Amino acid sequence: MASPVTRGHPRDWRVGVQAPDNGAQLRRRQIINERKPCSCPGCDRRRSGVSRYCGHHRDAASSRGDPLARLPSRNELAIFRHAIAVYLQTDAKLAQRIAGDLRSLERRMAQPPAFCLSPSDIHKGLPQIAKAKGLLANWQHRDRRTYTEAVTNALALSGWMEVYYDTGHVGGLWENRKAFLTTRAGALLGDFRKTIGRTTLRKEASGATHRLFGRDFVHHAKTIYGQDFWFSPVSTNDGQSLTLRDYTRMALKAAGLLSC
Ligand SMILES: [Zn+2]
Repeated sequence: MASPVTRGHPRDWRVGVQAPDNGAQLRRRQIINERKPCSCPGCDRRRSGVSRYCGHHRDAASSRGDPLARLPSRNELAIFRHAIAVYLQTDAKLAQRIAGDLRSLERRMAQPPAFCLSPSDIHKGLPQIAKAKGLLANWQHRDRRTYTEAVTNALALSGWMEVYYDTGHVGGLWENRKAFLTTRAGALLGDFRKTIGRTTLRKEASGATHRLFGRDFVHHAKTIYGQDFWFSPVSTNDGQSLTLRDYTRMALKAAGLLSC
């Protein structure tokens, strides 16, 4: 794919000139592909285009990262975030190092206010990277939220994946694990909105736009908190020793948010 033109503010960026496409070859692939069944278990429709899914499941996979998985609930994520905070309270030195790393990341990822995008700025010729930058600028300046919050959310989501996705609790397909995690991490930033009086204009951000930043959030969560954060050892008041993931699992069960 040609690289986008990124001069000036994101609202002025444009998609690059596309290389002359190999239409005939693509069409042949499509014809062969469309004879095969959708890869979703239980779906008896044929595949659509070059996707491994039928049209319905392809669209769901594109916007959510996975066509079948149920989304994490607010209550579930709150428990993962709480577990992160509790764990950091037990290790002041680690907490201090992480706080320092997050502060410098926050500075590095700060977008200029002029990068904000309104629904009216969104059009077909706008490259994905412009939308992603604009969404992040909106998050920082219009919503007054922080990059740190997005990284913490991505870390909570990685824990959620371990407990709910990897165990089959939410019905996601394993091949979409990464796409689901990065889409959810980026989805925190929401859509393009503008409120005038009592009406809110809204233009939806696509799954692909969410993934663009979601990948960064997940990557930063890993580098700052460590690859194996959820496997950190913790000991409970009654002397049990277990991983942070299993500790969180117990808290989820106690809250009635996890059955087995
Ligand atoms: Zn299907």
